[in-house]
Order: sequence, then structure tokens, then C-alpha cells
Amino acid sequence: MQSELLYKYPKTILNKGTGFLSGYTHSLNPYTGCAYGCSFCYVRQMPVSTFREGEWGRWVDVKKGAADLLQKELTRAKKKGKVTIFMSSSTDPYQPVEHEERITRSLLEVMAEDPPDFLFVQTRSPMARRDIDLFLRLKNKIRVSMTIETDREEIRKHFTPDAPAIRGRLKTLQLLKEAGVPAQATIAPLLPSSRSFPDLLREYVARVCIDDFFMGDGSGGRRTENLGIREKYEELGLEKWYDPVAYQKLMRRFQRVFPDEQIYVNRDGFMP
Ligand code: SF4
Repeated sequence: MQSELLYKYPKTILNKGTGFLSGYTHSLNPYTGCAYGCSFCYVRQMPVSTFREGEWGRWVDVKKGAADLLQKELTRAKKKGKVTIFMSSSTDPYQPVEHEERITRSLLEVMAEDPPDFLFVQTRSPMARRDIDLFLRLKNKIRVSMTIETDREEIRKHFTPDAPAIRGRLKTLQLLKEAGVPAQATIAPLLPSSRSFPDLLREYVARVCIDDFFMGDGSGGRRTENLGIREKYEELGLEKWYDPVAYQKLMRRFQRVFPDEQIYVNRDGFMP
């Protein structure tokens, strides 16, 4: 679905890493808003969304001049000490409009020239493959985290109809692997999946991160409950997956296929 686009000239681009991201010195959001509008996205309840007109998922603000700002702020931050950056915490850096606007690419160009100590790129979009050349310039100072909540496309469509299809995300993981870019598959929030899901991911990654609504929404599952996600499970007759024990079941499935040291849970999977 088409999102409303606005062009903004922010005054700053690097934000302090706080809360869930307190393991990072900074977070970096090339856009405000997110065209993927995932049903479970609790950013819609945060001030960034509640102070803005328009339904979450239907608008995106493009941060013009972002690269110049980053260049200045990165230089300043590096003088003060270690700089670790999480991109992005309240949007996906690969918005559909990134094809034309190339804001994320311009930020990566700045970081390829003047690398931070670590960069975590969090996305659901196959578009990340476009920037493999820049990821490679960051060598081992980068990890690309590709969210794959489930291997079942019909489940993906039920919860995130406007997000990219799973097949393209897997293809991007394959290209990252072939290029030698450090990457992980992020099953967060975990959604109902098939038994063979771990075997599927095994072909693409040597690191997975598993998280659920109860550990991962920052409120023990309350935020997710308020979004009406239980009803979305009920519509499918899959309420048993909307339970803190579902994570343990999924863990056991992954432990059969991945060694323990390749399985990260909740916040550990997102840290530098
Ligand atoms: S991609 Fe991320 S930021 Fe965008 S709607 Fe989905 S969960 Fe929210």
C-alpha cells in the first residue's frame, strides 16, 4: 500500500542508545514511520507515532541531509570514545522509498569511510542486498540482522501483509553469506512456523536470534496484548503459539539443528 511521504530536515541524526538498546552508544533511524506497518509493531504506541497524524504504516518521513549530519555527529562522537550504532530502532532502514531516496545508503557510505566500532543493521527487507559492497567495507564491524519471523508465508501475510515476502529475505541472507558479510536470522517476534524452519535457516546462517512478545516487547507482553494480537492468533486457531511456552518449544526445535553457541535469545541477539 502507498504511504504518505514527507520530507524533513532533522537537526540531529544519532540518538543515544537507551532502554533495550542501552548496549549501544547510539541508534540511527534514516526514516521516521514505517511502510511495513506490522500488526504487532509497538512503535505505533510511542510518541513518534502518537504525536503524528495518520495511521502507523501509512506514512514515512524522509530525513533529508542525513549523511551530512551523520558525518559531523560521528566525528564528534568518536572523539569522546567508542561508538556502536543500531540501525534502526523505530523504522526499517530499507523502506520501499529507499529505492529512490537512498538515505540509508548515504549513511552507510559515511560509515564505510569513517567506521564506527560496530554497526548493527536490523531489517525485514531483501533490499539490504543492494548495499553488500558497503557492508564489506565495514569488515567485521558490522552484523546484518534479517528478521524472518516464520517460514510460513500465509502466516507472514496474516500478521505483516505489507512486509516483504520471506523468499526474498532468504535470498538476501544467501547473498550476504556468499559475500562473507556477518549476518543473522532474527526470529522476532516468533510467529507460528513449521517443524522444518530450523533446517531451512541452517542453509543460510550460523547465527539465529529468537525473541517473542513476552520477552521482547519491553512490557512482559502487555503492549502486544493492547494491540489486539491475541485476536489475530484466534482468527487462525493458533492461540497455542501465543504463549510464553511457545518460545521454549521453538528453542528445542532449533537446538536440534543449531549448536547452542549459535542460538541467541532476546536482547543478547541484538547486542554488539
Ligand atoms: S518493520 Fe519494524 S518498525 Fe516497521 S512496522 Fe514492522 S516492526 Fe515496526
